[in-house]
Amino acid sequence: MIIFKDPHKIRQHLESLQKKGLKIGYVPTMGALHPGHISLVNQCRQTCDVTLCSIFVNPVQFNDSEDFKNYPSTLESDILLLEESGCDLLFLPGETDIYPDSSFRNKHYELGNLEQVLEGKFRPGHFQGVCLVVERLLTILQPDDLFLGQKDFQQCKVISLLLHTMGRPPRLHVCPIVRETDGLAMSSRNLRLNPEERALAPQIFKNLTFLKEHLREGNLTQLQKEAVSRLETLGFKVEYLELCNTENLDPLNRWSPGLHGVILVAAFIGKIRLIDNLLL
Ligand code: AMP
Repeated sequence: MIIFKDPHKIRQHLESLQKKGLKIGYVPTMGALHPGHISLVNQCRQTCDVTLCSIFVNPVQFNDSEDFKNYPSTLESDILLLEESGCDLLFLPGETDIYPDSSFRNKHYELGNLEQVLEGKFRPGHFQGVCLVVERLLTILQPDDLFLGQKDFQQCKVISLLLHTMGRPPRLHVCPIVRETDGLAMSSRNLRLNPEERALAPQIFKNLTFLKEHLREGNLTQLQKEAVSRLETLGFKVEYLELCNTENLDPLNRWSPGLHGVILVAAFIGKIRLIDNLLL
């Protein structure tokens, strides 16, 4: 695996590969890699000639400075993991490579309702920061294909919207959520859970599954209330637990068979905020 820090050098290298007709697939990450990230690398390797990964913890997308300060960093083991998984190229930019001056941070993206609901509502400015970094990374790297995880369902919708505004957008692949054996969605933030919190964390997925299995026409509100109340009794602080339309994430008040819905949840255990979702 070749590691690049300099945006100009990696651009040159990628250009030479693309001139040879090779298809570049790209997996953006913030590091603290786990098998969920590696599943994206694997999907990329199956689809593209060259697999490119980046690690950059983007300060601009953190609405909570403590969360940014405490974001886990495991660079050495990340590099080993990527090498083992057959990743070809790793881009490790610094903050000034991504944001050379303040003009790079000042763009505003029109995200409509997507920015008002769920993560958008509870993490003001988060998706603006996500768009800034993703547009910047895509401009530097110009991959043919882009691999994102369904784990961040709303982020996939936001980035898909962003790609529609770009000149030569990569083809988007959304990869399934990888879970621990007890159902907990893998996440870099899981590293920060203490043993008691880690033992409770799978309850999030258990409640999503319970809701999906028991959903009938007319009982959505009741089931939602029950799931939130069960989680709160266990000590979670639930920010949202909602059934939404998969296309635009508009909340749904009723469920009916055949409907394309997704149940999304965000909840704190202690200081750690976890998100998960389940397609119906
Ligand atoms: P992050 O490093 O958290 O920004 O995540 C980088 C990419 O990995 C994003 O596209 C995430 O959606 C994806 N990802 C994170 N966790 C998982 C998971 N458990 N399963 C599949 N993809 C994931």
